[in-house]
Amino acid sequence: MMIQAYQTIGIIGGGQLGQMLTIAAKSMGFYVIILDPTPNCCASQVADGHIVAAYADEEALGRLAQQSDVITYEFENIPAQAIEQLSKQAYLPQGAKPLALTQHRLQEKQALQTLGIPVAPFIGVQTQEQLLEAVAQLGYPAILKTCRGGYDGKGQVVLRSEADIVEAAKLLPNDCVLEAFVYFDYEASIIVTRSVHGEMTTFPIAQNIHRNQTLACSIVPSQCSKEVEQTIQAFAQTFMQTHNLVGTMAIECFVSGENVYVNELAPRPHNSGHYTIEGCCVSQFEQHIRAICGWPLAATTLRQPTVMLNLYGEDIGRVHQLIPTLPNNAYVHCYQKGEAKQGRKMGHITFIETTQMNAQKSAEIVYNKLGYSDSSIGGNEK
Ligand code: ADP
Ligand code: MG
Repeated sequence: MMIQAYQTIGIIGGGQLGQMLTIAAKSMGFYVIILDPTPNCCASQVADGHIVAAYADEEALGRLAQQSDVITYEFENIPAQAIEQLSKQAYLPQGAKPLALTQHRLQEKQALQTLGIPVAPFIGVQTQEQLLEAVAQLGYPAILKTCRGGYDGKGQVVLRSEADIVEAAKLLPNDCVLEAFVYFDYEASIIVTRSVHGEMTTFPIAQNIHRNQTLACSIVPSQCSKEVEQTIQAFAQTFMQTHNLVGTMAIECFVSGENVYVNELAPRPHNSGHYTIEGCCVSQFEQHIRAICGWPLAATTLRQPTVMLNLYGEDIGRVHQLIPTLPNNAYVHCYQKGEAKQGRKMGHITFIETTQMNAQKSAEIVYNKLGYSDSSIGGNEK
């Protein structure tokens, strides 16, 4: 099936990813309706319609189905069952499978392992006793993560010694997973897109720098060797192909020498792929729309070296003041999120340059102006 201009795309979830998907879809001639519980959510600022309702509200999902020619989601924590149900009455080419595979960290890791894709050693944990046993097996440092609902480092506790057990135990009795700490050289991610026709593309690998377990910056091209690049591409393609997935998947990895461990998956466009808007011949958002609408996928070629800086609540006010002084290779994005809370992703800046080093320098100058003098972009705190 092919969805064309003047037809309607329904998007479940109206955050910044929904907003950027909508902008891409609008420029291709589609109408867009968002379903999101928050009035004035980011995507509703640019979409044609907004159904204000909970993600699992069956009546509201039914209305979305009636008004849409194709439905997608920008968020993994929608009850998979609601999506399963919806796919019976609407055209939802991704189905619920990408959600089922990624909603639960333990099951996600098991799905990766089954395909022979390496992950950090892990143990499922539900009780304090199991936590102590798991720590005894994996040793310190380790990270306890909730299996469901975590993002931007939320729902995680790093255990460096026995003193951290009490804090970690607060995550229980939710399903959790204890992971061995990986002493990686750097973090990298890939965005893979597979269309309803089985056509598949990967975007250039991004090298990611996290601060406080949240993404600070993505640099493209990454420092990956050809071998590491091929390994990551093969993991992405194997996962999509084996599970016959449609849509977009982001794969976060730890790289240590030539070894790659997959950290986590996201069944949607991803923060580390925002650089594609200016950096590549097609953005991750347009590519996703193409994939679900049955269009041919576009070439994902990197136009020029690119650095993306995230702007958090504490940065965004200063960025608006900095605009007159920004270099002419800086592209500012603001998600119109309302209140600029500390740690909330409010926007990003992309720097395009002729060399990666120059793009990095421009980004570093802006970082310094924002007050991050302690951490240069090239370095990694872990
Ligand atoms: P989130 O869902 O919040 O993105 P992640 O599992 O991706 O959760 O963890 C966030 C960040 O924390 C990672 O990008 C990485 O920097 C760090 N981290 C997570 N797990 C590990 C690990 N096992 N070893 C080392 N660092 C880790
Ligand atoms: Mg992550």
